[in-house]
This record gives sequence, C-alpha cells and structure tokens, in this order.
Amino acid sequence: MSTGITLKNKKTAFDSFFLHQGGEGLAAFEKGMEQVSNKLKEVYSDTGQPFIGKTPSEIEKEIAGIMHFSGEGQSIQEVLEEIEGPVLRNSLHISHEKSMAHLHCPPLLPGIIGECIIGTLNQSMDSWDQSTAATYVEEGMVDWLKETVGYPETSDGVFTSGGTQSNYMGLLLARDSFCDKHWGHNVQKQGLPADFQRLRILCSEDAHFTVKKSASQLGLGEQAVITVKTDEHHRMCLNDVQAVLKRLEEDGMLPFALVATCGTTDFGSIDPLPELDSIAEKKGLWFHVDAAFGGGLLLSHSHRDKLENLEKADSMTIDFHKLFYQPVSCGAFMVKDRRHFRFLSHHADYLNPEKDEDEGIVNLVTKSTSTTRRFDALKLYLSLKTVGLETFGKMIDRTMVLASYAAGYLAGLDNIELKNKHPEINTIIFRYQAETEIGIDFNELNRAIQQTLLHEGKGVFAKTSIDGETFLKLTLLNPRTSEEDIHELMDEIEKTAIQLMNGGLARV
Ligand SMILES: *Cc1c(COP(=O)(O)O)cnc(C)c1O
Repeated sequence: MSTGITLKNKKTAFDSFFLHQGGEGLAAFEKGMEQVSNKLKEVYSDTGQPFIGKTPSEIEKEIAGIMHFSGEGQSIQEVLEEIEGPVLRNSLHISHEKSMAHLHCPPLLPGIIGECIIGTLNQSMDSWDQSTAATYVEEGMVDWLKETVGYPETSDGVFTSGGTQSNYMGLLLARDSFCDKHWGHNVQKQGLPADFQRLRILCSEDAHFTVKKSASQLGLGEQAVITVKTDEHHRMCLNDVQAVLKRLEEDGMLPFALVATCGTTDFGSIDPLPELDSIAEKKGLWFHVDAAFGGGLLLSHSHRDKLENLEKADSMTIDFHKLFYQPVSCGAFMVKDRRHFRFLSHHADYLNPEKDEDEGIVNLVTKSTSTTRRFDALKLYLSLKTVGLETFGKMIDRTMVLASYAAGYLAGLDNIELKNKHPEINTIIFRYQAETEIGIDFNELNRAIQQTLLHEGKGVFAKTSIDGETFLKLTLLNPRTSEEDIHELMDEIEKTAIQLMNGGLARV
C-alpha cells in the first residue's frame, strides 16, 4: 500500500550510494551499471586465451598495489580502470573455450543478470519477513526439481551453497535419523550417543572428499567412512559393498548410510544406483546420492536414463554451478521425506517463532544449516525461463558429444595414454607418455606440461593422481568448445612435452 508521501526533498549525503526512490540513487545506479557493462565488454572483447599467463607472485604484487583506500573515495569508473589489469585481466576466463580444468562452468548470461537482481534486492532466505516473494520462488524451484527428479509429494529441498553443504546436510540427517530410530536418541539435544564410535558410512574410493570431511564435522571422525573399491569404470563395486557390510556386521559396527556418487569428480563415473538402492533398502541404510555433477543430466535429452533410480535416494546433492551453468554459488539439497528436516530445525524467537509455523508462514531457515542465505534460486529460474528446457538439454548433450569425440580422438594419438575410453559424463583423463631412449619421469613431465600451458595461458586443464601416477584432465563443460579446440590443445600438449624433454626437464 502506498502512503502517497514522496520523499524527494529529503536529501542525504549518501543518496548516490544506494538504489532508492530518489533521482540521485537511480542515476548513480544506471551510470554504474553502464560503466561496469562497458568495462567488462572491453575486457571480454580481447580475451584471446583462457589465462593471461602470469605467475602467482606477479599477480599477488599487482593486487597488493591496489589495496589502498582513500578518505574521500573514488568514482566507480576510476576504480574500474584501476582493477582492470590486476583483477579483470588477471582472472581466469572461465567462459573461454579452452578453459577446461575443473567442474567450474561458464556462467549463463541470464545467471549473470540474475546475480545483479539478487544483489539489488538482497533478500535473505532465512525468514519470510526478509524474503517475502523470494521464499515462494525458491519453494517453486524446489517443486520443479522434485518433479524433474521424480521425487514424491512428501519430498522437500532447499538451496545450498553447493555440494559441500548438501553432502553435509544429507549425512547429518542420516546420522540423526539413525540415532533416533536405533536408540531413541536425540542428537540435536543430547549430542552424540555413547556408541557413536561404531557408526559407519560407506562410499566408493572415488567419492568426493566432502564425505570424509562431513563425517569429521559430524563428530564421527574420518574413521567412520569406509571406502568401497571401484571397478574398471570407477563405479562402486557391488561385491565389495556386500563384503564390507558383512565385515562391519561381524565386527559389531553400525553402518547407517550408503553414499553413491553420480558423476565422480575425476572420471564422471556413475555408481550403479538401482543395485545400491536395493542394498541400502535391505540393510536399512540411508541412501544419499551425491549428484553434484551428474545431476545436470536431468535436463539431457539423450542421457537422462543414466540417472535411473535417482528418485529412490533418501537424499541427494545437486549443484547448479556445474552442469547447470550458474554463477558460483548455487546448489540444492533434496530429501525424500520432508519430516527429516526436523533434525535441523531450531526456533529462534526473533526469526522463526513456532507461532509463525502455526499461522502457515514459511521460514526457510527451518530447512537449512545456514541462516542468512542468498536468493540463488532466482538465477536458475531466469536461466530455465530464458534458455528454455529444449535448448538447455541440447547444451548438455553437446558437451557429451564433445567428450566422446575427444575420447575417440585422444585414443588415436601416439604418445597419449587415455584412461577413460567411454566417458560417462564430460571428463577425459589422460597423460603424455612417449617411448624414449632417455629416461623420463612422466609424472614430473605431465605436471610440467600442465603448469607450462597454464603459465603460457594457452590451455587450462587439471592434473590429478591415479594410482600414484600424474594424469591430466579435461572437464568439458562448455558447449561452445569445438572439436578444433581439442585438436589445438592436444597439439600444444605434444609440442610442450617435446620442448620440456629436449630442455632436460623430467629426465631421470
Ligand atoms: C563439486 C562436487 C562436490 C562439492 O561441491 P561444492 O559445490 O564445490 O561445494 C561434491 N561432490 C561432487 C561429486 C562434486 O563434483
């Protein structure tokens, strides 16, 4: 309801620093946005390579040079000029076609524009009175996700800062639900039960490190995580799951959760969800699926079937800042039975009093381990709305086509050892390995190849270690990366390897 009172004449000394009804704020907003947009356009129009190629100490020094603040302040334009070199041009250009190191995506334009709206509105998702419309947008996006996953009506979810938080939440609910069922013990109120040292979590040896990190933060210690062997495709080995469970039973341990990974960080492998679900069900284990990476296949037209039985999970992790192309950070935690959120809820009189709940007021803090929380749901909403589900699926499918092309191409190259001939999602693992008369330390050489190309800015890819050997990794998330980009990158890798070997590096 408008009061009809205009405050136009009530000027303050701070009017040009905030967006508000008054003309000064509006003009400053418009001007600032235009200047930022022009500066970013200028920088992006000449990002010929993914990285400028400077050393850490060079960049550190340039940044130190801009770390001073004056009493009277500077104009946005002046500061933009000042940070152009040190920050804007020295940053990793993640949207470049040859930027393919980590699960770190080029952000969609509607996501970037979404960030601008999110920052402007600055809603906080903890209580309805701080996110009066945003609460329902997030709830609507959770409903969309429920439907897309195939989750039942009883399910629920909440946006998170990413996979780390979502995995933590999954294991927290799993732990507390087990303690409640098994001992009638309330961890929230009483802390860990006397027998907590017997609690065990199973995941594969290729699972994300945050499973162990969560166990440690949950007071169970990393010792609570038992890693199961993986097969030649880096999928959790079912025989070993059975063997481990049998051994734990014999030792009097209490396994309570089974974590499957849908898209492992290195290989993109997908654990056998239907079989694991049925083991979990039989043994009464909480089944958590870490689909931080693989969850992107929900929108794929040709690979959606790889997520068969995802909807059986008791809880799951989905990241939108990976295969959903959202600016960092954006993720979700989903749980099949929303009643489990009771293990998290705490009523604070100032924020989410129980009376609110009685009156039907939705305070999302009840479902989260965070309090103040970003309105990240909006950028995903804008992205799905503007790109459209058809094109979104095509984008993801394009990266799958590229990954399988890259695997085929690398398999045909001399001096390249390819680890995954049939990539399940978008990652390619390989290393340079030539027959030479001189002894070469190929771990050292591959490490040097990665470092050299990063410092020349010609290609940004990752290194990882498999069975003690150094391998290189391409994570092909960018639907604009072409077959030609892969050829050029592999040429650079070969050239660099030869130069390094001739230069005497890595000789043993
Ligand atoms: C990225 C990733 C995580 C961690 O998620 P963040 O968003 O970085 O916190 C967990 N699990 C898997 C499989 C991942 O790929």
